[in-house]
Amino acid sequence: MRPHPDLHGKRGVDLLHDPVLNKGTAFTEAERDRLGLRGLLPARVSTQEGQVARVLENIRRKTSDIEKYIFLISLQDRNENLFYRVVMENLEEMMPLIYTPTVGQGCQEFGHIFRRPRGLYITYKDRGRVRQLLRNWPYRDIRMIVVTDGERILGLGDLGANGMGIPVGKLSLYTACAGIHPTQCLPVTLDVGTNNETLLKDPLYIGVPERRLRGAAYDELVDEFVTGVQEIFPKACIQLEDFGNTNAFRLLHHYRNRACTFDDDIQGTAGVALAGVYSALRITGDKLSDHKFLFLGAGEAGIGIGDLIVTGLMEEGMTEAEARLKCWFVDSKGLVVQSRTDLVEHKLPYAHDHVSVTDFQAAVESLKPTALIGVSGMPRTFTKPVVEAMARLNRRPILFALSNPTSKSECTAEEAYTWSEGRAIFASGSPFPPVMYKGKAFVPGQGNNAYIFPGVGLGVIASETARVTDEMFFVAAKTLADLVTEDDLGEGRIYPSLTRIRDVSAAIATAVANLAFQRGLTTMSRPVNLAAHVKAQMYEPTYKEGR
Ligand code: NAD
Repeated sequence: MRPHPDLHGKRGVDLLHDPVLNKGTAFTEAERDRLGLRGLLPARVSTQEGQVARVLENIRRKTSDIEKYIFLISLQDRNENLFYRVVMENLEEMMPLIYTPTVGQGCQEFGHIFRRPRGLYITYKDRGRVRQLLRNWPYRDIRMIVVTDGERILGLGDLGANGMGIPVGKLSLYTACAGIHPTQCLPVTLDVGTNNETLLKDPLYIGVPERRLRGAAYDELVDEFVTGVQEIFPKACIQLEDFGNTNAFRLLHHYRNRACTFDDDIQGTAGVALAGVYSALRITGDKLSDHKFLFLGAGEAGIGIGDLIVTGLMEEGMTEAEARLKCWFVDSKGLVVQSRTDLVEHKLPYAHDHVSVTDFQAAVESLKPTALIGVSGMPRTFTKPVVEAMARLNRRPILFALSNPTSKSECTAEEAYTWSEGRAIFASGSPFPPVMYKGKAFVPGQGNNAYIFPGVGLGVIASETARVTDEMFFVAAKTLADLVTEDDLGEGRIYPSLTRIRDVSAAIATAVANLAFQRGLTTMSRPVNLAAHVKAQMYEPTYKEGR
C-alpha cells in the first residue's frame, strides 16, 4: 500500500477530527498518552472489529435506506478506515446504499441532508483561479479524480451541484473494490448551474442557483480544470462522470488523446455490458457474431456498449460495417434508420437501411434480435409483449435492463424470468433480489460498472499510463467474463459474486497495466511481477500502529 501523505504531528482533538487518522475508541492506551488524547475518549479501548459491530448494529436499526446512507456518509467523514472496513466486509449490503440506487435519492435530497462538504466544488465564477482551488485540496498525490457537472445523474436528469454524491460514491467504490487509497482520490463537481426548476426554487439547494453555463465559457472552465489537474496532480487520471450526453461525447473525444481520462458512462458501461454478453455466450453456447443486439436508448451507455460490441465482433473476424449491422438502436423518436434527419453524430454509424419504426415492440418483431439492451432511463419499457416476443424468438433471450436507479429499470428481474418462462438471461443496472420461478432460484446479474472501473483505475495507477484506451475496456471485459465460474452460470448469474470484487479488480488492473506496457503508453519500467506490483498498491482499511 502506498503511504498516505505525511499528516504526522497531529494530536488531540485535531487527530480525532481527521477522518484519515482517526481511530476513535480504538486508540490504544499508549497512543492516548503519546498523542494527547487522554480524557478525550471514553475509558474502554475498542478493537476495530468491535467498532464494526457497533456500526452494523446502528445501520441495521435504521428503517430507511436514505437514513442508512446518511449514517454511512457521516461515518466516512469521521473515520475512513472504519467506513471502508464496514463497506468492504459487507459489500453486497453496503454497495446499494453508497451507490445506486440509494445514492440517487441522496443526490436528489443532497441540499436537505447536507452535513459536511467532501470534494472540490468549482463554479464557473472560479474561471481564472481553478489552479488555486486545486491547490487548496489537502492531499498532493492524487491519482484518481471523478468529475461531474451534474447534468445527467444516473437516470434522474439534471441535479446540478447535488450530483456531488456521485463522484463521492464512485470514489468510495474505487477504494472499496480496488484498494485505491482514499487520500489519492478526489471528487470534483463543476458547478455550472442547473436547469432543474425545482432546484432553482429550493432555498436549500447547495449550488449556484442559476441556469446552466453553455458554449465557449463552459469549455474554457473544463479546459482550465483539465490543464490545472495535469499541472498540479500530474499522475492523476480524470474520470468523466454523469455529464449530459452532448458534453460527454464531446469532452471524451476532445481529451482522450490529450489527457489521462475516460468516461465511465460510455466506456465503463460498455466494459461491464460486454462482459455480461460474453458470459451469456457461455450459456447460449455460441459466438458474438451469432447475435443481433437491439438497444433501447442511444445515449452514452448505448453507443458506448455498441462500439465495444463492434470491437468484439471485429475480433471474431467481421468487418466494421458487418459488425455495426449487428447493433440496432431505438431512441426517443423510434428506430435509428438512414432516412432520419434528426440524428446526432454518435448515432450515425448505427443508422441502418430500414423502414421507419416508432414502436419498440414493432422493432423487436421486425428485427428479431437475440438480445435487448435497455439504456433509456425509461421504466417499464420491456413490457410483457416485448419479453414474450423475445422468448418466442429465442431459446435463451438476453435481456439487460440497465437503467438506474431501480425505479427506472426497463423491467424487473421477476418480470424478465416469469414472462420468458425462466429462459431469459437477465442483468440489471441496479440490484434485484433472486427470483423463485417454478421452484428454481434465479440470481439476476447486476451489470454494475463497479466490476470494471475500479480495476481499470488501479491498472492505470499501477502502470502510470499516460492514456486510457478503448482496448483497455475490452481486455477488462474479457478478464471479468473469464472470472465468472460455472457455478455462477448455473444459477443464471453472469457476473462474479461481489464478494470476490477485490480479486476481480486486481485481475483487471493487471490486464490493463499489461496493455499499457505493451502499447508503450507509460515511461515507467515494467515491474518483474506485474500482478504482485498491482496487489502491493492496494489499501487495506486496518488501523496502523502508532498513528
Ligand atoms: P443518455 O441521456 O446519454 O441516453 C439516454 C437515451 O435514451 C437517449 O438516446 C434517448 O433518446 C433515449 N430515450 C429517452 N427516452 C426514450 C424512450 N421513451 N424510448 C427510447 N429511447 C429513449 O443516458 P445514458 O448515459 O445512456 O444512460 C441511460 C440509462 O442507462 C440511465 O438510466 C443510466 O442510469 C443507465 N446506465 C446504466 C449503467 C449500468 O447499469 N451499468 C451504466 C450507465 C448508464
